[in-house]
Amino acid sequence: MQFSERLGKLAPYPFVEISRIIAAKRAAGADVVTFGIGDPDIPTPQPIIDRLLTASQYPPNHRYPETDGLPEMRRAIAEWYDNRFGVKLDPDTEVLPLIGAKEGIGHAAFCFLDPGDIALVPDPAYPVYGVGTMFAGAESYIMPLYERNGWLPELDAIPADVARAAKVMWLNYPNNPTSAVATEEDLASAMAFCRENDIALLHDAAYSEVGYDGYRAVSYMQMDGAKEIGIEFHSLSKTYNMTGWRIGMAVGNADMIKALFQIKANLDSGVPQAVQEMAMEALTGPQDCVDDNVRTYQWRRDRVVQACRSAGMEVDVPRASLYIWAKVPGGFTSAEFAQRLLEDLDVVVTPGSSYGRYGEGYIRLSLTTPDEQVEKGCQRIEGWSIPAPQGG
Ligand SMILES: *Cc1c(COP(=O)(O)O)cnc(C)c1O
Repeated sequence: MQFSERLGKLAPYPFVEISRIIAAKRAAGADVVTFGIGDPDIPTPQPIIDRLLTASQYPPNHRYPETDGLPEMRRAIAEWYDNRFGVKLDPDTEVLPLIGAKEGIGHAAFCFLDPGDIALVPDPAYPVYGVGTMFAGAESYIMPLYERNGWLPELDAIPADVARAAKVMWLNYPNNPTSAVATEEDLASAMAFCRENDIALLHDAAYSEVGYDGYRAVSYMQMDGAKEIGIEFHSLSKTYNMTGWRIGMAVGNADMIKALFQIKANLDSGVPQAVQEMAMEALTGPQDCVDDNVRTYQWRRDRVVQACRSAGMEVDVPRASLYIWAKVPGGFTSAEFAQRLLEDLDVVVTPGSSYGRYGEGYIRLSLTTPDEQVEKGCQRIEGWSIPAPQGG
């Protein structure tokens, strides 16, 4: 049997490996606390589940959905963007439901990239931007994100010939894994750069609704001219605790939305209609559940920051997203430090290096773990005297 070269180029998806280690530890009787994957532990709000129960009884929902979704679903997305961001979208040409943002992000590569093309991809980052690029046979030009720049790309450092050749730029704010946020000025600089170089600007806004201390993320679609140069990916996963239902959306430039529709029409058949009904319920119903979630995460955020600091790790208090991005103490690599936490404390974190080489030196702790688990994990971290690195 011969598999494709692209399969051989894949690094193990970080969470598959972590899940395996957790399962092995638990099987051996360990009481593992996990700050690993970003997957809300809080259930999907009941009105959204109730809508699924009703929708599942309706036979037309048992059949193939349309790739571009139910018209009511596209309208619900447009309405939500208007209510939340004041952004006007044409539901029929500027909105496309997705089987989760991940699906759309992966497929977007096929809309823009041919073999040998260049995509500007941040590092550290959610892995799918680079993987999609590789699947399309194109090359990622890495935009390193540094703490000193607030984890924003250094656009001036991109060589002019790379900028001219690049076809897409990926951005993600509020950011996974660093929790950094972007201001309107930051987005405007990226837009100017992309416009000048005829680059499609693709923004992943999966965490726009998880903001703390009153912080409200901006949508790139609020910016003048955004619809001329790009699209924004969004997801119900993190906002409404719906990771398991697989639903998200892309909005923005009509030609780009159409291109993504064409790719999807040939590879998948859209989002199950009963799940679209859940999403309509979520987007158009009362939004208190979002505030409740944020309150829960904010307590966890403060608790984890306190624990990391008292163990001697440097951390910034994030203004948004579900992650604490902590600097590992001197002498350890990210992977070694994550390994020590696992072996000494039965605490799971993700090494920053899983998100690219510029994530080296950090670990990511996800806040999607029940409060009592957070408390237990934090107590273990606080009571720990960080061992000396091996050989250091
Ligand atoms: C979780 C996450 C997504 C995935 O969203 P789905 O809608 O569940 O596919 C996309 N982008 C980032 C940065 C994420 O962390």
